[in-house]
Amino acid sequence: MHEMSIAQSLVAIIKEEMEKHGLTRLHAVRVCHGRLAALVPEALAFAFEACTLGTPMEGVQLEMQDIPIVLRCSQCGTEFSPEAGDLFMPCPSCGEGLGHEVLQGKELYLDNIEAE
Ligand SMILES: [Zn+2]
Repeated sequence: MHEMSIAQSLVAIIKEEMEKHGLTRLHAVRVCHGRLAALVPEALAFAFEACTLGTPMEGVQLEMQDIPIVLRCSQCGTEFSPEAGDLFMPCPSCGEGLGHEVLQGKELYLDNIEAE
């Protein structure tokens, strides 16, 4: 379970951002995660809650947005998004099933914080 370390990093980044901008009250946090980032949203929400307990961030809502996987066919260059995250799905345009490049889906980042 790596969600706890992700949550700790998030809290550290948020704290730094808030201090930098002189913000004191945090309202919401949005995290974007690719389907290949192997993140369990419930586990991250739980870990975030645990990390913020007793801090000014306690009770803040963690929004999570998942980013679909996008692959590019190694043969014809068609970009497609496999259903259910199947990386070995054949290309819908030429049928090639090997060597697809992952264009999107591995991301994990703090997208936005709402604070005042
Ligand atoms: Zn193709």
